[in-house]
Amino acid sequence: MSSQTVLVMQPRKKIALVAHDNKKADLLEWARFNKGRLSEHELYATGTTGTLLEKELGLNVHKLRSGPLGGDQQIGAKIVEGEIDVLIFFWDPLEAQPHDPDVKALLRLAVVWNIPVACDRASADFIFSSPLMSEEYERILPDYDEYRSRRILD
Ligand code: PGA
Repeated sequence: MSSQTVLVMQPRKKIALVAHDNKKADLLEWARFNKGRLSEHELYATGTTGTLLEKELGLNVHKLRSGPLGGDQQIGAKIVEGEIDVLIFFWDPLEAQPHDPDVKALLRLAVVWNIPVACDRASADFIFSSPLMSEEYERILPDYDEYRSRRILD
């Protein structure tokens, strides 16, 4: 039997926000509506999204590289390190992106490490209206022991 490990998410969450170009207006509108709530947390974003959010909200945002220049991968790395608690990622379902593999990788890592992800406004609303957003939350870290100890060489 394997033991389960958890990572305690603090009431002040570390939230990563990313929006593809056709979804930026949507994210900004959502963020404006939720400005009060967003101000209670620590915000991270890909470069362009972050710049727009800072201007829109007047809140401090940790800005990473622009998504196509590696920003999605930077956020993915932070998820792996336990440095991001929630991902709000408004990706565009109608347009191929130059960094589609990075988009897929980011969404994959969010599931690998069991963090809440919203890919549209309705999901973001549901996550943000959860009481867990302002409480401590014990996030279960999936047990990858079996994977790590898999047999490679006979
Ligand atoms: P951007 O990147 O915020 O720098 O535009 C978003 C993305 O991942 O496409």
